[in-house]
Amino acid sequence: MIDVLKSELLHLQFKCGIKMRDMMGATITIRPENTTCPQCQEEMGVKNSYIRKLITEKYGNVSARIITLICNQGCQTADGSAVLRSPEIIARIAPKGSSISYDIEVEVGLLRYLKRNQREEIQEYLMKKGIPISTGKITNLSHTGRTHDK
Ligand SMILES: [Zn+2]
Repeated sequence: MIDVLKSELLHLQFKCGIKMRDMMGATITIRPENTTCPQCQEEMGVKNSYIRKLITEKYGNVSARIITLICNQGCQTADGSAVLRSPEIIARIAPKGSSISYDIEVEVGLLRYLKRNQREEIQEYLMKKGIPISTGKITNLSHTGRTHDK
């Protein structure tokens, strides 16, 4: 899991052409890897974009501008909705709906279950690294971390 994440972030960094340190607090733009429509093969247009805050162990706080593409030719999927593309990479950095990356999730799990740290100890540890997370969130992360391991 961690290795996959590292390679994804390295790949992302490479594609964005910026130094890793510069990602801290910066806004990075993430476009879909493939920009052609899967049906008509034409180049797709930008439908919209939104900013997603991501807190990662290695890169600190990152604001990601996520671009969604739409087919300008009006192609539709089987259920009649427009053909869209979203970046797949984002799903591999953090769980859907969460700002906290998998690398922090994994670390919290290790601290909690291998090192038997208390939630407050983990909170302090993360705070020192500039990652503010509530103890309630640490509890949630510990649980999801365990689920992924099974
Ligand atoms: Zn199309």
